[in-house]
Amino acid sequence: MNIILLGPPGAGKGTQATLLVESRGMVQLSTGDMLRAAVKAGTPIGLKAKAVMEAGELVSDEIVSGIIGEALDALPLETGVIFDGYPRTEAQAHSLDIILSERDRTLDHVIELEVDEDALVERITGRFTCATCGAGYHDKFKQPKVEGECDKCHGHDFKRRPDDNEATVRTRMAEYRAKTAPILPIYEARGIVSRVDGMSEMNEVTVAIAAILDGGSA
Ligand code: ADP
Ligand code: ADP
Ligand code: ZN
Repeated sequence: MNIILLGPPGAGKGTQATLLVESRGMVQLSTGDMLRAAVKAGTPIGLKAKAVMEAGELVSDEIVSGIIGEALDALPLETGVIFDGYPRTEAQAHSLDIILSERDRTLDHVIELEVDEDALVERITGRFTCATCGAGYHDKFKQPKVEGECDKCHGHDFKRRPDDNEATVRTRMAEYRAKTAPILPIYEARGIVSRVDGMSEMNEVTVAIAAILDGGSA
C-alpha cells in the first residue's frame, strides 16, 4: 500500500505518518525531513535548499523528486510507503507517477487533512521535537508526559524548526494554496482521494485514516 498524506503545514501529516509507521510497519518518506537532514549534513542539496526553506518557499521539483526516487530504491517492494509533504506541485505529481510505475508501485490513497488556517498558525508556532529521536510535541496539544523529558527516548533536549514562525508559515500556506491544493483534481479523477477533518483530536484523525486504509476504497 502506497499513500499520500496531503495538507497544509501543520495539518498533522507528520504526526499521523509516525503513527502509521508504528501501527502498520509502513515507511514514512518526508521530503521535509530529508531536506533538513541534507541541510544539517551540509550536502550540495542541503546548501541549495537552506535559504529556500527558511523563506518558506518550495525547493526545486528536480531536487525533491530525485531524493524520493533514491529513497524508494532503498526499500523492498512489499514495504508500504507514506508520502508526507510530497508531491507539492503538479510537476512533482507527474514525476511521482513515473517514479512509482518504474518501480512497479501503485498509489492507493490520497488522504487530505483539512484544517483551518488560524489553527495552523497556532499548531506550527507551538510545534517542537525531541532533538534525540525526533518525536513530535506541541506546547498546548501534546506535551511530554513528564515535563522536559521525551516520552519515547527520555531525552531532555528539544528543538524548534527555524521556519516555524508566523511570517514563514503565512508564506508556506500561500505556497500550499497556490501550488499544492491544485494537484488534488489529478487524484480525484482517479477516485482515490479521501478527506479527513484535521481539526479533530489527534486520535480521532488516526481512527478516520485507519477506516480509509481498511475500507479498501477511497
Ligand atoms: P505537518 O507534518 O502536517 O506539518 P505535524 O504533524 O508536525 O504537521 O503537526 C503540527 C503540530 O500540531 C505538532 O506540534 C503536532 O503535535 C500538533 N498536532 C498534530 N495533529 C494535531 C491535532 N489533531 N490536534 C492538535 N494538534 C495537533
Ligand atoms: P510542513 O511539515 O510544515 O508541511 P515540511 O517539513 O514538509 O513542512 O517542509 C519544510 C520545507 O521543506 C518546505 O517549506 C519547503 O521549503 C521544503 N520542502 C519539503 N518538501 C518539499 C517538496 N515536496 N517540494 C518542495 N519543497 C519542499
Ligand atoms: Zn526522544
